[in-house]
Amino acid sequence: MPLFPTAEQLAIIRLALIQDPINKLPSKGGAPMTAFKPSLQDLAFLDRALALAKSSAQNDGGPFGALVVQDGHVLAESNNRVTAHHDPTAHAEVEAIRAACRSLGHHQLHGCTLYSSCEPCPMCLGAIYWARPERVLFASTRQEAAAAGFDDAMIYEELDLPGEQRGIPCHWVNRPQQSGVWEAWQLNRNRHSY
Ligand SMILES: [Zn+2]
Repeated sequence: MPLFPTAEQLAIIRLALIQDPINKLPSKGGAPMTAFKPSLQDLAFLDRALALAKSSAQNDGGPFGALVVQDGHVLAESNNRVTAHHDPTAHAEVEAIRAACRSLGHHQLHGCTLYSSCEPCPMCLGAIYWARPERVLFASTRQEAAAAGFDDAMIYEELDLPGEQRGIPCHWVNRPQQSGVWEAWQLNRNRHSY
């Protein structure tokens, strides 16, 4: 009996995890994630995100797809368009959030669910928190993405470092005019708080 599972055994374990979403516990993102039981509608929308991702993978996009749904209606959907649009921010989630917000005529996604083919990266997670959908459901884990060459673990590690110690240094430069920006914001009676 070998100490480690064979490649065949690993394939069977992996298949079991994929087929059993309840036991497919993704990575922790700060706190341990608990099992989630999706509705049939959730599964249908997740399958749509995965179909977008697969189609994108077979064409000129990265292997990711996402959609924003409100009250059972799809507001927007997108695949990854980073290389197609020469836009490093054109992740499927960001593209879907932008299109859904345009569709709503509002900068926030109250009452919406974002379905993504894969666990959102730190950039998309930031966009998600700014857009404030009600919840996010994803299929593939960040580990699966990393195995395919999309490893965002480095960004999570960088976030824990002081700015000047990061791989892309982030330096504070204090300027006298900066307080004027905040004063202008406070004085603008037409500002939209968010
Ligand atoms: Zn992303």
